[in-house]
Formats: sequence, structure tokens, C-alpha cells
Amino acid sequence: MEIKVQKNISLKQFCTYKTGGSAKYFAEVKTPQEMVHLRDFARIQNIPYMILGGGSNILFGDEGFPGLIILNRMTKLHIQGERVTAESGVNLARMVMVCAQNNLGGISGLCNVPGSVGGAVYGNAGIPEMNISDIMTHAIILPNDSEKPIMVTPDYFQFSYRDSKVKRTKDIILSATFKLQFEPGMKIRTEISQYAKERLQKQPTGNTCGSFFKNPGQFPSAGWLIEQSGCKGMKVGGAMVSPKHANFIMNTGDANSSDIINLTIKIHQIVKKKFNVNLEPEVQIVPNSPFKSQ
Ligand SMILES: Cc1cc2nc3c(=O)[nH]c(=O)nc-3n(C[C@H](O)[C@H](O)[C@H](O)COP(=O)(O)OP(=O)(O)OC[C@H]3O[C@@H](n4cnc5c(N)ncnc54)[C@H](O)[C@@H]3O)c2cc1C
Repeated sequence: MEIKVQKNISLKQFCTYKTGGSAKYFAEVKTPQEMVHLRDFARIQNIPYMILGGGSNILFGDEGFPGLIILNRMTKLHIQGERVTAESGVNLARMVMVCAQNNLGGISGLCNVPGSVGGAVYGNAGIPEMNISDIMTHAIILPNDSEKPIMVTPDYFQFSYRDSKVKRTKDIILSATFKLQFEPGMKIRTEISQYAKERLQKQPTGNTCGSFFKNPGQFPSAGWLIEQSGCKGMKVGGAMVSPKHANFIMNTGDANSSDIINLTIKIHQIVKKKFNVNLEPEVQIVPNSPFKSQ
């Protein structure tokens, strides 16, 4: 199998933050077979590797990634009755739209979550009303400790709020199947436009990874803590705490990853001092996170 492995590819273009250094090695995969092949290649060569979906929950440091970035371009989608199976590189919003066109509801809440199906399952993406794990029936994964893909049910993932076991095992999600329900097309379309409208009202648009920190249980939200700590509008270099939503850390145009990281460290310290809460990042900082929980 011939897969083109490129060298020194800037990761900026693949991440919604539009910052970060270069990948030492970089390749795109279009099929599960190519994915398995590349993972095995990286292991044999003893190169660290990482899957990249939509790059909407990842912040690569300015130093770049010292191994192989595998860009997931596996995009097959199959609908059978009320079941939808998507390869992990399928764009989640596209999947929601295709479901809507087929009168399949129960997933509209995820219409504004950027990124891929694989990234969503990895981090159990969701909104207050639902998580992707609520509708997943099974997935095909390439376990870290196995040569061959296997099928697993949701209990394997030990899903919780923005978390799954895969964050620690480093298994690769190849595809996932979801159980939806037939609903009138008009109802689904109305829901989708309502969700889109609410987002626009509450959240800024621009170069960001969405909510930077996870909501800590005992307080209303991470955004509330950051706002109450007086951090709204705070800046480091080209990074800024959004004046519209305090948990959105924006690249205002010319930020580098260090600006964003330094601003989040500052926020973390201020919130810790005021509320004695250790905010935990939802965004993954790679390869060197300054946060202990990553
Ligand atoms: C404007 C904006 C709004 C957002 N709103 C929400 C929201 O409402 N709810 C929410 O939950 N999130 C939200 N997010 C965060 C983000 O969209 C989700 O976390 C998304 O699921 C990440 O998917 P991705 O494909 O972009 O992952 P990436 O950023 O590409 O990767 C994130 C992690 O997942 C791993 N990964 C990706 N694909 C695979 C795979 N196939 N197998 C194994 N590991 C994999 C990567 O290695 C990496 O560790 C938002 C982001 C933005 C920019």
C-alpha cells in the first residue's frame, strides 16, 4: 500500500485556532485499511503519531508535533432505516444534515458542533441536552493493543462528560453507528435553525476551539467563573477572552499558540485564586500541555 508521507507540514491550516507549528511527518488517510497501515508504519518506525479530525478541539504548540499526524479523510456515510453508520472522518454537521434530509431526528442538537464523528466520539461531544454517546449503538475501533479492528459497544468507552476511555487508551475510532428516529422533516429543520440561532446569540464566531475549559460540577459553568473573575476581554498577544462568552478564548488574528496557552494559564491562576477551583481544559494542548490533567 502506497501512502504519501509528507515532511514538515504546517498544522495551522488544519486547526480551527489557525495556530501551531509543523508536523514532522504528515499523511492523509481515506480508508480504514490505510489508517491501520499508517499506524503500523508509525509503530515500526517508532514515531509518535496522532489522528487529526477537524482540528476543532486541539491546540498544537508553536514547536509543532515531533511525529506523524494522520489526517482523517475517511468520509463514507451509510443509512439503513433508523441507523446511520459513519466513518470517523465524516464531518458531524454534515451527518446531521444528511439525517435531516432523510427525516431522521434525535441528533439535531449536534448540528453546530464542528469537527469529525471520530473526534466527537473520542471526547463525547455534546450540548447540555445531549451527548453523542446517548445515540451511539456501536463503533469499530483499532485498539491500541491490537493489530486488527474490533467492534465495541458504548460501555467499552466509559463515556462521561466530555470524556471517554479512548482519551487514555489511544485507540483509533474507525467508524460509529447511531440509532436515530424517524420524525417529520419540518420538525427537524425547525430544531436545527433554533439551535443555530441560539448559538449565534450566545457564542462568538472566529478562530477558536469553542469552550476552552470544562464546566466544573459545583458552579454554573466555567464561563461564569471566568467572567466573575474579571477575565472577559483579557488579552495576551493576539489571544483574547471573548467579551461575548468568557470560556471562548479567541485568536483575534495574529495570535500564536503560546499567546493562547499563556492566556489560559493566567485565567486558570486567577480563577484558582478567587474560587479555589482548578479549571480543567477541554481543548487538548499538544505535545506539551502546561495543565496537570492532560
Ligand atoms: C466554535 C466551536 C464550537 C464548539 N462547540 C462544541 C459543543 O457545543 N460541544 C462540544 O462537545 N464540543 C464543541 N466544540 C469542540 C469540538 O468541536 C469537539 O470537541 C469535536 O468533537 C472535536 O472533533 P475534531 O474532529 O475536530 O477533533 P480534533 O480536534 O481533530 O481532535 C481532538 C482529539 O480527538 C482525537 N481524535 C480525533 N479523531 C479521532 C479518531 N478517529 N480516533 C481516535 N482519536 C481521534 C485527536 O487525536 C485529538 O486527541 C466546539 C468547537 C468550536 C471550534
